[in-house]
Amino acid sequence: MKITAIETFLMHAGAPPARTIATNPTPESGNVWNARNWLFLRIQTDAGITGIGECSGWPRVIETAVKDLTPLLIGQDPTHIERIWQRMMSAMMGHGVLGTVGSGAMTGIDMALWDIKGKALETPVWNLLGGQVRDRIRVYGHAGAPERALDLVSRGFTAIKTGGLSDTVERVDAIRAAVGPDVDLMVDMHGPPWMTTKDAILLGRALEPYNLLFYEDPVAPENRDGLRRVQDAVQIPIAAGERLSTIWGERELIEQELVDVIQPDTGRTGGITQMRKIAAMAEAHFITVAPHSGSLGPVAEYAALHLMAAIPNALILERVEDDVPVRQQVILPAPKVVDGHIEVPNRPGLGVDIDEAIVAAHPSMGNLSIPGHPDDGAYAEGTWSEHVYFQSRARNARRFGGG
Ligand SMILES: [Mg+2]
Repeated sequence: MKITAIETFLMHAGAPPARTIATNPTPESGNVWNARNWLFLRIQTDAGITGIGECSGWPRVIETAVKDLTPLLIGQDPTHIERIWQRMMSAMMGHGVLGTVGSGAMTGIDMALWDIKGKALETPVWNLLGGQVRDRIRVYGHAGAPERALDLVSRGFTAIKTGGLSDTVERVDAIRAAVGPDVDLMVDMHGPPWMTTKDAILLGRALEPYNLLFYEDPVAPENRDGLRRVQDAVQIPIAAGERLSTIWGERELIEQELVDVIQPDTGRTGGITQMRKIAAMAEAHFITVAPHSGSLGPVAEYAALHLMAAIPNALILERVEDDVPVRQQVILPAPKVVDGHIEVPNRPGLGVDIDEAIVAAHPSMGNLSIPGHPDDGAYAEGTWSEHVYFQSRARNARRFGGG
């Protein structure tokens, strides 16, 4: 079997164009979803078997990288996945390999190769990875208010993440009071570059009474010393890793045990080949795996289901429930959350395909936006919101017992 072609499918997967910051750069449009695009690809072979993959780290740029890599792959046997991965990495050494673009392109190609191999052998990808440890994957949803959290719980979710720097403790307090003690809660600070280590520690300590499953990206991922200090000072499991790629990008977090939960992104960290190696590195350090999938599309989510079925240290999968409608429309079949879990697919390969007509109906637009909630300027342009935790530290201390 030989690879004959690679097709790419780029689509817009965000809010209406009027809110896209690339064409309307106002603070009001500062929602990362507005400029979100997804990039899928399909690898064709001379055996008639095709493989689907996703690489959505920086999709419009990665599409160019995939096209650059394609001539290297034409004529290759798609079943020799590791060899092809090394071939791609070697070819990109001059461009740098660990960044979003190179590893993102390798991610989609690698994912499609696993899909082809599974289809050729008529077995699911999880079987190629060692077989099943579990047949369904626990997922968590996102809530910014108690009402949303209760809605998710009423639909079976048993774990909920909240985030943001505005009134974080108040929000967690309200959500915990609403959902009770039996639902797992997580807090994501998104590691803004200006977050000081001491404030991340103070906030983490204020969150300790809420029995969190993890405290995510309390400081910027580049701040490794800070992460060590937070890890030592705060009695909540620490999670990080979504903005890093490959075993070399995640290595320091794992080897130095800066995290309790590693969060490689299934859609941009170098593919299933890298994800399973990262999981094994984490296993050796008693670190669990909770793949990031917040901004990514549904094919990467499928890849995460296969990986998590097969690794012993899978903790929980991020799930963008109630995403834009195209999330459910573009994927065939769309996964469903039942009792807080998604069933592991049993079809050969990844067991998924995309609806190309839906892709075509949603042409790419925008490319970048300022992250953050529309009414929360905390992440925007290096500025601090007036509601940021440490600017209201005295008030929080009075409320939560610190002074
Ligand atoms: Mg995150």
